[in-house]
Amino acid sequence: MTDEAPDGKNNKGQSVRGLVYPENRKNTMENETSKPDILSLSYEELEELILSVGEKKFRTSQIFPQLHRGLMPGQMTNISKKTAAAIEEAADCFLPQIDIKLTSQIDGTVKYLFRLQDGNCIETVLMKYNHGNTVCVSSQVGCRMGCAFCASTIGGKVRDLTAGEILGQVIAVQADSGERVDNIVMMGIGEPLDNYENVLKFLHNVNDARGICIGYRHISLSTCGHVDGIRRLAAEKLPITLSLSLHAHDDETRSAIMPVNKRWGIDETLRACREYMDSTGRRISFEYTLIKGKNCTPSDAGALAARLNRIMRAEAGCPIHVNIIPVNAVRETGLEPPDKAAIEAFCSVLEKKGIRATVRRRLGPDINASCGQLRRQSRAGAENGTESTSCVTENKN
Ligand code: SF4
Repeated sequence: MTDEAPDGKNNKGQSVRGLVYPENRKNTMENETSKPDILSLSYEELEELILSVGEKKFRTSQIFPQLHRGLMPGQMTNISKKTAAAIEEAADCFLPQIDIKLTSQIDGTVKYLFRLQDGNCIETVLMKYNHGNTVCVSSQVGCRMGCAFCASTIGGKVRDLTAGEILGQVIAVQADSGERVDNIVMMGIGEPLDNYENVLKFLHNVNDARGICIGYRHISLSTCGHVDGIRRLAAEKLPITLSLSLHAHDDETRSAIMPVNKRWGIDETLRACREYMDSTGRRISFEYTLIKGKNCTPSDAGALAARLNRIMRAEAGCPIHVNIIPVNAVRETGLEPPDKAAIEAFCSVLEKKGIRATVRRRLGPDINASCGQLRRQSRAGAENGTESTSCVTENKN
């Protein structure tokens, strides 16, 4: 795998190969180890590890649930110090550490900047709804997909997260909040299907009834349109919800804001979504970010409805749901959301064509809760010694 975007270029037409932060690359190299990461292990793999350090197999049934509650072997009171030391010798035992925690004073959304073992940082968000707690997890450090509206891709991809680092975000949020996580959305930093094996392993591990046990139907995976990944995931037949970031109704506009579209055009992507729906029985949700001057006129809405109806409804007979997301203004991208009237006009056209449209409520508006912004602000702050947030901040360092 390379750090190059699917078309070899980012949204500014620059090659993104090798665009990694030098200090992160150094940290990654220094911490490379052949030891397995304990939170990446399935129950059966942990069983093998426990046998390999001379312990009895039944210990797995004590250790696995405790790991999923956020306890590392040295903190477990029902295993001997010798066994804990042997496990910590055989595996990397590390939970993402809270570097910064921001709590919205408006809606209680909590945004975490987690530091990983090699010093890289990722973002995770806890959102509190009436129907339960949802955690939005990251799947990569940075992202190589180059979407024009996204802060996470500005520095390119640094590396994939391990299955344990993805699971560790859920565990660390539960441990910090003291509340059960009910739902997971894979919509944080990174393209999950660009880190397929680790994401799949995470999905199996987080679903394990002997551990954290979150049902597949409570997990949603968001993709920018990685068609090979959608087809692979369809073949797994896991009942997880797939969410496609569409953001334009024509290939020219979509390719200009999402380089992945140069590799897999809209029709091919929608056909892959339909295959996913046929294979899993799960509905697809479409995400459409409104960007002023790019994709948000009533005529754009009419063309979007026609395309979705042609491929998704006419052939598959499914209800179509589009989440409308006014773009967040990110200084580096120069993009702006349309005004309220333009948003309402866009939705009204979709509804008239039989498509359900929901304008997504912006959670945590006072903490920059959208993907990649905190990580960038933290990096900028670290570089110039300033802080840029005005809400409740708990710096854990
Ligand atoms: S929107 Fe998602 S896929 Fe696109 S650059 Fe951002 S993190 Fe990557």
